[in-house]
Amino acid sequence: MQNPFENEERRAYRDTVRRFLEAEVKPHTDDWDEAGEIPWEMHEKIGALGIFGFGIEEQYGGLGFDDCFMRAAGAEEFGRAAAGSAFAAVGGRSISIAPIQLFASEEWKQKILPEVVSGRMGSSLAITEPSGGSDVANLKTNAKRDGNHFVLNGSKTFITGGMKSDYFVVGARTSDNGLKGISLFLVPADTPGFSRTAIERKMGWWASDTATLYFDDCRVPAENMLGEEGRGFMAIMNNFNMERLGMTAQVLGMSKHCLDESVAWAQERQTFGQPLIKHQVIRHKIADMSAKIDALEAYVNQICWQANEGEMPVAEIAKSKFLGTKTLEFCASEAMQILGGAGYLRGNSVERTYREVKVMAIGGGSEEIMRDLAVREMGL
Ligand SMILES: Cc1cc2nc3c(=O)[nH]c(=O)nc-3n(C[C@H](O)[C@H](O)[C@H](O)COP(=O)(O)OP(=O)(O)OC[C@H]3O[C@@H](n4cnc5c(N)ncnc54)[C@H](O)[C@@H]3O)c2cc1C
Repeated sequence: MQNPFENEERRAYRDTVRRFLEAEVKPHTDDWDEAGEIPWEMHEKIGALGIFGFGIEEQYGGLGFDDCFMRAAGAEEFGRAAAGSAFAAVGGRSISIAPIQLFASEEWKQKILPEVVSGRMGSSLAITEPSGGSDVANLKTNAKRDGNHFVLNGSKTFITGGMKSDYFVVGARTSDNGLKGISLFLVPADTPGFSRTAIERKMGWWASDTATLYFDDCRVPAENMLGEEGRGFMAIMNNFNMERLGMTAQVLGMSKHCLDESVAWAQERQTFGQPLIKHQVIRHKIADMSAKIDALEAYVNQICWQANEGEMPVAEIAKSKFLGTKTLEFCASEAMQILGGAGYLRGNSVERTYREVKVMAIGGGSEEIMRDLAVREMGL
């Protein structure tokens, strides 16, 4: 489908990412999944594409501008290349970098941002706890003031990039005042009292490290508080918007991948004396996938246009996320069906994409929580 918002710059950016993925990522995605990691030099190569630089000032190594269409195009291309696992391996940065730029001290920004934006170092966002991820207002990790320091105690889990990241943006409770008692902290991984263990054997995203983090009397200087005390919940919610939009764009790309693979296979595979694509049932599956993808793409474009105009369409982002993951669920299932046994084999990109459906439907705000948010935004 023609994108009415595409211009030369956006097309050039998308092409650059696509060429990079074709040459440097696609040939290795399966091996990296089996190895459980991507080489560190890939972090830097992906950083060099500018993927982490949107909205980050040039003095901190960023691009010095933001463009939601370009952000979305990058995520979509990773999804379309069936490289979600590699994208997750580097992606802790994308969801933790904005609070650092917005709220960290000048000294920290100069020290951290160029390293993280370039991919030389890693950063992660740590919100989810063993007791739950959906009910952010109820998080339990606490941060008690002690003179010029805060002392953190508690645990976070499911943290993307958590085993390798050098810096963490951590939500912690500074008072018992519900969602008004939550603050954000910057915690370097070498802080005494910080430790982590790997979560192994996930359903998907095998190339991405996921960790449980422990804070055991972990002392950070008071200046490591990101933003105002008690304003962390709002900062977390604002930060979620771009994470969710990025996930929806990635899901759009993953759905397109399923369609691409289905069409290619259906044209080649012969059954009952003719190519699969000639059977009406298969043609209808292709039509359904294509229609859902077009609708999702139009939605993503609409939201990107609004975001570029300075709006933050919270309800639309929430709705697009569950619409997107339902689209992906449908497309991955139909693609697997069209590929038949071949799609069920390890190493097939449709099989890998199928295994990544649920993390997109749960992570960054689950389908249920997105529906709740959408209805709340309707004033109901
Ligand atoms: C691979 C992976 C990577 C992740 N990376 C990160 C990361 O980098 N940083 C981070 O902070 N978190 C991360 N997460 C955590 C993720 O954000 C949470 O898993 C998610 O928010 C859901 O939280 P939960 O798993 O604790 O489920 P719960 O909150 O316990 O919910 C369980 C189920 O109940 C549903 N549910 C909950 N409340 C309601 C309700 N009121 N009504 C109806 N249904 C409800 C949920 O939708 C879910 O389906 C990651 C998760 C995974 C799997």
